[in-house]
This record gives sequence, structure tokens and C-alpha cells, in this order.
Amino acid sequence: MEIAQGVYLLQASKGSYVYLVLGEEPTLIDTGFRGRADRILAEIAGYGMHPRDIAHIALTHHDVDHVGNARALSAATGAKIWASQEDLPFIRGEARPSGLRGVIQTIVPVEPVSVDETYPQGGRVGGLEVLPTPGHTMGHVSLRLGDILFAGDLVTSRGGRLVPAPGMLTADRVALRRSLREVGRLPFQLVCPAHGEPVMRASLWEALTGSA
Ligand SMILES: [Zn+2]
Repeated sequence: MEIAQGVYLLQASKGSYVYLVLGEEPTLIDTGFRGRADRILAEIAGYGMHPRDIAHIALTHHDVDHVGNARALSAATGAKIWASQEDLPFIRGEARPSGLRGVIQTIVPVEPVSVDETYPQGGRVGGLEVLPTPGHTMGHVSLRLGDILFAGDLVTSRGGRLVPAPGMLTADRVALRRSLREVGRLPFQLVCPAHGEPVMRASLWEALTGSA
């Protein structure tokens, strides 16, 4: 589904949305729950694209519902996989998360993913601005394209409202509050979370930042 010009929400990834951003270097944001790669590729083909057109796969963080198809999608597309330095050991399978995340990963195991590049400080991937937004995980990033914020699990949306990502999975609440504050200063309008439908920022971001 095209949600803005050249920006697609991939319905094959419902539950943990993958977004496709066209441009000179088409980019996938996150990869969703494991086992969806074929459906994701079919949906992309339906938009008139060939898998090899995808230049980048930008992971927002290491959770299983975001890296689930990274391996399959990079094999099919040849796209470069990007992740943050902090989340890298978990994505590569060199470290295991503790607590609830560790339990989830036992129930929903994910094959290790070989990451091609780590996000440069203050850098860009494809046409997207990379914003470090630690809190949910220590290496969580959000991405911005003009007035669209791809929020990963920085926030989720429910019934058209922004809500904070589940507290039980927040690695660092203080960092999360700071990330929300800092991102909130940027001039985006549409928020595209992994969980829940895209919503306009309206005044919700400010309310959320105040109460988070
Ligand atoms: Zn998630």
C-alpha cells in the first residue's frame, strides 16, 4: 500500500511492518517476522520492482520481529544490510539478549544475520536520515525521509494514537525518554511504526514525550 509518494507499507509484513522507500537507492526498513520473505518479495514485485532493485535493508534494531527475514531478503535482493554498532552482536548471533527478550528469542529463534555496514554517525542510508534513538534497545535507530518518520519500535500506534513501545521490553527508560524528546524536535508529520498503522504526529508526540 502506497502511504506517501514512493513510500510503501508492505502488508505481507502485518504484525511488524516493513516499509519500502523508493528513490535512487530503494531501501527496505526492517524485515518483519520470519517466514514472510516470499510474500514480501511478491508484494514488491506487485509494485513493479525487481528484487535486485533494492539497494539497502536498514534494520531499526535487533528484535526477532525486525530481523526475521533479513537473511532471506538480502539473499534474494543482494541489498546491503545496515544495523547499529550496539545491536550488531545480537543480530550476528554473537550475543544473546537477557530477560524477556532472551525468552522471546528462545520461542522465536532467528538465524544469525551477517550485517554489511554499521550506521555512520549522523549519516544517511539511501535517501534516509539515520537517527540514533536508543531506549527500546541500546542501538535502536529511527529513519527520516522529509516529513516521514520511520519509528521502528520507538513508538507504536493503536487506534490512530501513538503509544510508547511496551515498557517490559525497554532496555533503558531514561534513554528512551531522551530519544523521544530529541526526535520530537524534528519537523516530521507522518509517523510510521512497525507495530500499528501510520499516524499523523499531530500533538500526540508532545503528549507522549511529556508522559513517557
Ligand atoms: Zn518490534
